[in-house]
Amino acid sequence: MGQEFKIAIIGQSAFSADFLKLMISNAYNICGVFTPPDDVKTGREDILATTAKQFNLPVFKVKRWRIPPETNKAIPEVFEDYKSLGADLNVLPFCQQFIPMEVIEYPKYKSINYHPSLLPRHRGAAAINWTLIEGDKEAGFTIFWTDDGLDTGPILMKRACFVKPNDTVDTLYSRFMYPEGIKALEESVRLIIDEEAPRIEQPKKGATYDPILRGKEERTMIDFAKLDTGEKLHNFIRGMDKVPGAWTRIRVAGESGGQYEKVRLFSSKKYHIEDYGIPEAIRKVQLEGLNREAIVHTGGLLMFANGDARPVNVGKIQIVETGKMVQASAYGSPEANRPALVLTPEEQKMEDSIRSIWSAILSSDHISKSTDFFFAGAASMDVTRLVEEVKETIGDSLELENEDVYMNSQFEEFVEMVVRRTRGELSSSSVVEYEPVVVHANKMELKFPNQIFINNRFVDSIKRNSVMDSINPTTEELICKVQVATKEDVDRAVNAAKMAFDQESDWRRMNARPRGRLLHKLADLMEAHKEELATLESLDSGAVYTLALKTHIGMSIDAFRYFAGWCDKLQGLTIPIDKARPDSNLCYTTREPIGVCGIITPWNYPLMMVAWKAAACLAAGNTLVLKPAQACPLTALKWAELVARAGFPAGVVNVVPGKGGDCGQAILDHPAIQKIGFTGSTPTGKLVMSSCASSNLKKCSLELGGKSPLIIFADCDMMKAVKVGMSSVFFNKGENCIAAGRLFVEESIHDKFVKMVVVEVKKMVIDDPLKRSTAHGPQNHLKHLQDLEAYCKRGVEEGAKLVYGGHRLNRKGYFFMPTIFTEVTDEMFIAKEESFGPIMIISKFPNEDVDGVVRRANRTEYGLASGVLTNDISKALKVVEGIRAGTCFVNTYNKTDVAAPFGGFKQSGFGKDLGMEALNEYSITKTVTIEY
Ligand code: NAP
Repeated sequence: MGQEFKIAIIGQSAFSADFLKLMISNAYNICGVFTPPDDVKTGREDILATTAKQFNLPVFKVKRWRIPPETNKAIPEVFEDYKSLGADLNVLPFCQQFIPMEVIEYPKYKSINYHPSLLPRHRGAAAINWTLIEGDKEAGFTIFWTDDGLDTGPILMKRACFVKPNDTVDTLYSRFMYPEGIKALEESVRLIIDEEAPRIEQPKKGATYDPILRGKEERTMIDFAKLDTGEKLHNFIRGMDKVPGAWTRIRVAGESGGQYEKVRLFSSKKYHIEDYGIPEAIRKVQLEGLNREAIVHTGGLLMFANGDARPVNVGKIQIVETGKMVQASAYGSPEANRPALVLTPEEQKMEDSIRSIWSAILSSDHISKSTDFFFAGAASMDVTRLVEEVKETIGDSLELENEDVYMNSQFEEFVEMVVRRTRGELSSSSVVEYEPVVVHANKMELKFPNQIFINNRFVDSIKRNSVMDSINPTTEELICKVQVATKEDVDRAVNAAKMAFDQESDWRRMNARPRGRLLHKLADLMEAHKEELATLESLDSGAVYTLALKTHIGMSIDAFRYFAGWCDKLQGLTIPIDKARPDSNLCYTTREPIGVCGIITPWNYPLMMVAWKAAACLAAGNTLVLKPAQACPLTALKWAELVARAGFPAGVVNVVPGKGGDCGQAILDHPAIQKIGFTGSTPTGKLVMSSCASSNLKKCSLELGGKSPLIIFADCDMMKAVKVGMSSVFFNKGENCIAAGRLFVEESIHDKFVKMVVVEVKKMVIDDPLKRSTAHGPQNHLKHLQDLEAYCKRGVEEGAKLVYGGHRLNRKGYFFMPTIFTEVTDEMFIAKEESFGPIMIISKFPNEDVDGVVRRANRTEYGLASGVLTNDISKALKVVEGIRAGTCFVNTYNKTDVAAPFGGFKQSGFGKDLGMEALNEYSITKTVTIEY
């Protein structure tokens, strides 16, 4: 294009270099390029010069254009060089040198300039900064006919964009000023070649000339008296972000004699106090000149303007003395006070190698401390390349993942992270600090939290003295006291979960696949701690250790792994709707998370019940507030620690140990919770449903009690029937929601079956659950043990035959004998109601009466599970067809799997845990209809 029209480029930086590339790719004739000389300190060449050389263009490195001192006359040799090119037009994309008017005016079509403001507003050096500082609603740039450096030349073209509420100088520049500016410059050249370029005199109205900011500390100081509204304060801070950086002095509040230190504030965001209230303070700080104390919280530093008290939140703080940049949420913590990194000579070499890698990926020689990988143009492909090249250079033992690049996108942060990893100071898991309970058991030292978990921190309840006992059912001794969450604590937790669900939050902006990786990482950590978790489950709930390892913890890990895989498979449909002729329509659906979910779990599989719900809930992208059963909250709290260590953003998971009637009820009633996942008894389930309805019509799923029938036909494999029958009842001490609550045994084998079962039950090893040989441990807690005693007493009173057990063991601990009742008739209490303990209830049914036994088995309000043992496929399928229950086992029992949906019919509740269907409980469908 326009080959005979010669263009000289005078300028510097990546902006000019990218403009040059665009011009070359569009076949313009660039006759020469003028740049400043190489950097005196580093010897580095300006990227415009490097780029021009790649295209074999004449490059002139001009130290000075004008005859000193500051005349407007060009230095003759420079001018001669310039003239020799015979340019028709000069383009100055970004030029910090003063170019003499002789040069500007020399070409036939003179010169054009790019200026990053809507002229005549914000003439001068810091135009984008001032656009934001002054709260302009529109930002933009101007291409104008170059003047003597005062930005007053006639206008050729302007382009504007709206300023977004949280734009900074950097975001405005990278999303609009830079990419659109390069295109507009090229368009301007085309207009000039076509002789269609206007020259519009700049109006006088609205003209401003703003002073330079860089290096002027008095102008970049935050003057809280002047910046007296939240809006002004926010605009000032973002208007200096990242260069030159607005500064103030700060100190931790309440520290007697604490010195103020100078800091620069970055990443200012509007804070939605209407949605989230005032966040919980990790610590309070004072800023010089600010009347009210500011709050350091998990989301940053929140301050309130002196005049209108509106909040402003900053995300990052740079400590000026050391130059160290820290997350504002860490200000005042040991991490923030850690001295700036001093590199050893070896590490300096490492830094150089990393710089070369960045340089090569970003095609730039100018990698400075503050270079941001993404602002400098990296795409997601480049992230993998960076990770792989750094690992290749430093060694494969370096733990480095793509996510680390996103979290440390500035060169300085990235180098620090890599160096600290190589020193072993940082692992890829976050550290969670708390005062642990320490217990020695099972040949190991257990350390676990006993406080409330909110925003990735363990904190005390508002009522600090409000605690509950966690009792070891084997020894009847206290394991530890646990903080009890109150209604106010639930509010705190819900607020944290709400904030973590904000559409701008890290969690909501995280892609589905990294979310899956987080779930996998949590599963890995659970795996690495499985012996500790299983021991804790054994101590707290009496679970037999070997079963705890395999099922309680093993299946919890499986649940996270299974649902991790679903994260990027939650997809909608495209739907062929009727078209609105003559136009067309596209209709599709998306699956979205519901929001903040409340999860309430029972005590029988303390961690597993949490995992079944939380894994699906998190996979779908929700945030949650969990109340574990008060009888055994310890594994849920240990799990919370692992959640934080895995790197889940603060507030995604919150755990509030407490009492059902207070803390649980507060969750049910909370207006900001959108969904309840509940597992527990049917009476509580009814209460849950009515509270969900009367509060804010929350969605709920209920996994409730059961009285599951197991039908044993005479044609079964007898040995297997005894084995399956025993485990259907005694598995996990009978504290198993799908436990077979009633065995129907065909008359012809009834007596033999009973005899064989009694023989086997007598062999069961009842002992300390931590012993590897133990088959049967103590019941979960005292009240439950007492309920079992009462249950058996009633069975005897109503005429059932107690064949074995029925009482507590004569030893310390809540041990209950495995129990067998026969001659149980349909109207008896024990035939109808769940015991939730190791009590086998056996009833006879007439030989070959398939239809009759199915009718009897269905005569219960529950419908959780069922089972049939027979070698006749027709009988088995007749039972499967006739039984009203959520799960049917044929020739097996208790064979649950994380991939198979689980949940009840009738008063055993509704909604499924596990399997693909569980995702329906934690996601919501949005229909999108488009006309085109
Ligand atoms: P629960 O008494 O109903 O308690 C379950 C949970 O609900 C506990 O965390 C409890 O807190 C809480 N809760 C109690 N009252 C509440 C209220 N007013 N508002 C909110 N939360 C409240 O049941 P459980 O005795 O712990 O567990 C045994 C029952 O769970 C059995 O019926 C069993 O069949 C059933 N279960 C069902 C499944 C299934 O998948 N269908 C699985 C396991 C267990 P506290 O700890 O303070 O009482």
